[in-house]
Amino acid sequence: MSEKPVYRRVLLKASGEALMGGQGFGIDVSVADRIASDIAEARAMGVDVGVVVGGGNIFRGVAVASKGGDRVTGDHMGMLATVINSLALRTSLHKIDVDAVVLSAIAMPALCESFSQRKATAYLDAGRVVLFAGGTGNPFFTTDTAAALRAAEIGAGALFKATQVDGVYSADPKKDANAVRYDRITHDEVLAQGLAIMDTAAIALARENRIPIIVYSIQEAGGLGEILRGGGKRTVVSD
Ligand code: UDP
Repeated sequence: MSEKPVYRRVLLKASGEALMGGQGFGIDVSVADRIASDIAEARAMGVDVGVVVGGGNIFRGVAVASKGGDRVTGDHMGMLATVINSLALRTSLHKIDVDAVVLSAIAMPALCESFSQRKATAYLDAGRVVLFAGGTGNPFFTTDTAAALRAAEIGAGALFKATQVDGVYSADPKKDANAVRYDRITHDEVLAQGLAIMDTAAIALARENRIPIIVYSIQEAGGLGEILRGGGKRTVVSD
């Protein structure tokens, strides 16, 4: 393994559920702190880090729609949940002296700065971690799609999709003892086989922009750094 990181700039996507830890709802601060220390390790290696956090630990738009409510309002609530999570992660980063800024797709000047591609790139160039809040800013989208979009906008070398398992398997490893983890797989294969890594729009956007997706487990502390050093357990989705 070399000390030179495999990627110079990455976009990390963590679901809201990852922040929930063992709780049924909300934010487990110890989990946010651990994710922050993984990000700090990447920064110490000189890697520029952008982060998109989901909101599923707090709210999902479909929850409103499924009970007869207005989907758009539900999605607005979901996007607000991602702002809460981003502020939590910023707090964890600041606690360990990692410079981080939240840029929201929905203007909320009292809480954080608004997103612009130019600002995001300037902050990353200056060595700050950029937390992209508010998803894409539009209803009917997901934070997976927001992650692929931001990855393309900041010129990320890879999109790290943090999940509960350490890669993409041929079958559900919890149900099938013969399931094998793929080392590499293409975007097209993911789409054709309907592998539920990220939603279709996110995979297609990554494919069009030739951004590899690294699927890895957020459960293991230090996992991000290991992969950046060229090791670790993961599946690489690329051409
Ligand atoms: N959301 C949205 N537009 C976006 C991103 C997110 O409307 O661009 C809303 C949507 O309601 C979604 C919620 O925010 O259910 C939380 O995001 P997501 O479900 O992607 O979070 P995760 O599953 O990653 O925790």
